Amino acid sequence: MYSSVYGALKLLTEGGRESRRHLEELDRTQWLVPADLAHEQLLGLQAIVRHAYEHVPFYRDLYRGLDIHPQDIRTLADFEALPTISKRDVVEHLEALVQPERRSRAQQIMTGASTGEPMRFYVDDSFWRWNVAHENRGRGWHGVREGDKMAWVWGAHRDMHTGSWRARSRATIMRHRYLDAFAMDEPSMRRFAYMLQRWRPPMIRAYASMIHVFAQYLAANRIEMNRPRLIEVTAEQLKPKQRELVEAVFGCPVTNVYTAREFATVAYGCEAGRSHINEATYLELLMNGAVVPAGGMGEVVITSLHQSLMPLIRYRLDDEAILDTDACPCGRGLPALKEIVGRKNDYIVTPDGKRVHDGFFAYYFWTKPQVARYQIHQADIGRLEIRIVCVEPVDRALLSSIDTELRDHLGPGIKIEPHVVDSIPLTAAGKHRFIVSELPPPPS
Ligand SMILES: [Zn+2]
Repeated sequence: MYSSVYGALKLLTEGGRESRRHLEELDRTQWLVPADLAHEQLLGLQAIVRHAYEHVPFYRDLYRGLDIHPQDIRTLADFEALPTISKRDVVEHLEALVQPERRSRAQQIMTGASTGEPMRFYVDDSFWRWNVAHENRGRGWHGVREGDKMAWVWGAHRDMHTGSWRARSRATIMRHRYLDAFAMDEPSMRRFAYMLQRWRPPMIRAYASMIHVFAQYLAANRIEMNRPRLIEVTAEQLKPKQRELVEAVFGCPVTNVYTAREFATVAYGCEAGRSHINEATYLELLMNGAVVPAGGMGEVVITSLHQSLMPLIRYRLDDEAILDTDACPCGRGLPALKEIVGRKNDYIVTPDGKRVHDGFFAYYFWTKPQVARYQIHQADIGRLEIRIVCVEPVDRALLSSIDTELRDHLGPGIKIEPHVVDSIPLTAAGKHRFIVSELPPPPS
């Protein structure tokens, strides 16, 4: 009932009407067969390249310098031969990437500083309206409607309506309640759990690592939860064991949502558990500049079909992923991601040149139930600092077993320094970083 009234009221606003039109469009395109979807995307790609060439100084100079003309883009293969752009290009050419006639309508956004250097870019109102449509479609797959109550386990205060009187009123109207993931302790988790039992929201939106911590707390204290319809996790992907626990505690599906500040929602999990890539996002996987064969892992390169104020065309996101090549049982023609492997630097390097991905450490620490969280810090090639948060006081034996076992695996040339800490801070974007590497990234 409330969600129907909320939906009707939103249609009184221009943004609400625009989001509704986008949602109707997405409801149609999700059922296109892959060949028809690819054809529509090609038209969109041709249009954004033409727009960028004609209106955006950075692309005009880039393409003219390489003797590329929009008319040359006749196939997806032609498109995939265009140059890629990087975060560095955005930092160095920010103003030239914006269409000058629309500069006054540009809203500035900052990306997190996880790579050491915050990056600014620009969007306009349509960016948020498309994102509302993408989120509402994805939630609709699980029976959640716009205007339904939503509990958040969240830390980015810019997204949380908790500050002023006006912001709190907005949260009341939108029916959002929050557990602050940057200040989670036992009393706040207990209060939040009892609030959820009474309030019964159909949906929880959470940082993956923090809903896992909350689920651990509920399981340890045998606090029963009402079954929501959906838990939407973002900022990072839940590991399989973490997902198992969260699903068991809440008795509902957990869907990973793949987001990036530059594009908002990139992929959303369907009823069958596949992460479908939005139509507005043309996603390629590259390795050494070439498109990877089906099923292979590659660097994520994205073109947004709708961001025309500041177009991002073949933009390298610094994530790595694997595409799912099987058709999805849900029947949608949208491509899907099998796995998002994470930031390119989410691995350590041993003195003999071996790259050891976070997956190894995740698996290793599953064998150590005393360890609640960990973070590997590599400041130089010969040394690894292992920070662990433990569920109970631990003795030297645990630390020395970590030292011996990791050295066995990683080789004798690396010094292992395990130590216990009280907590591991999240990044400004709410991510728990399993690996922090200060080594220079390899050339790409
Ligand atoms: Zn599906």
